[in-house]
Amino acid sequence: MSNNADEVRANGGARGRAPTDPNRQLPKRISLLGYTIQIPAAANDATAAAQGDDDYINPQYWPHDEYSSDVPFPNSSNGTRQPGRRRVNKRQEKPKTIPPQYPWATDLRAQVHPLTTLRSRHIQTITGQVYCRNCDLKYDVSLDLESKFAEVATFLKENKSAMRDRAPRNWKNPTMPACNVCRHPRNVKPVIADKKRAINWLFLLLSQTLGFCTLDQLKYFCKHTSSHRTGAKDRVLYLTYLALCKQLDPEGPFDLR
Ligand SMILES: [Zn+2]
Repeated sequence: MSNNADEVRANGGARGRAPTDPNRQLPKRISLLGYTIQIPAAANDATAAAQGDDDYINPQYWPHDEYSSDVPFPNSSNGTRQPGRRRVNKRQEKPKTIPPQYPWATDLRAQVHPLTTLRSRHIQTITGQVYCRNCDLKYDVSLDLESKFAEVATFLKENKSAMRDRAPRNWKNPTMPACNVCRHPRNVKPVIADKKRAINWLFLLLSQTLGFCTLDQLKYFCKHTSSHRTGAKDRVLYLTYLALCKQLDPEGPFDLR
């Protein structure tokens, strides 16, 4: 190595603060933040920069990966941290809220408004998209909120004890009404959004077609509604029905036990 300044740049002096005069006389030992640091000759220029400019620390001497703004610098009497140094977030955390995906959905994932809110907002019809394999068409279907929820809730109340925390056959293998276009009886399915946050949970509940969801999609729902349940699909499916009914009617008999 013929030039000290070149080495400094290679060691992290890219901020351009390191002096370029290789002949400058520099101390071999400095006191920095209460520490006495022994300086190898090759890094003297960078250390000089540290003395002259407290924003400059040669990364070679400060393991910045371990640095956290929550922890004051060691031996720092007033706990202040070095200006110009910020914590780097290594993991991008997902925001807690999302834009509501439907008029009946809240800004929380997998969460719909209770019936009281929907009534006060005059939301009486819940719409969802379906696809008919026979005529290869996608179109919207509208469901009456009150009467369809009453169907699900009554079925659940009357059969809950016999279900043993498992979805019954008609929920595991749901059928939709005949196609509105071609009248074919068994080729219509709800369109389930690829992005889980955009799944139309209320439409699936009211049409009793949550069984078309994959286990992964149902687990997503349980994860975001604090159910934190795992298990076979009929178990997670049952929990999803129960939790959605509870969201709509928080006072109803929709607790797990
Ligand atoms: Zn059709």
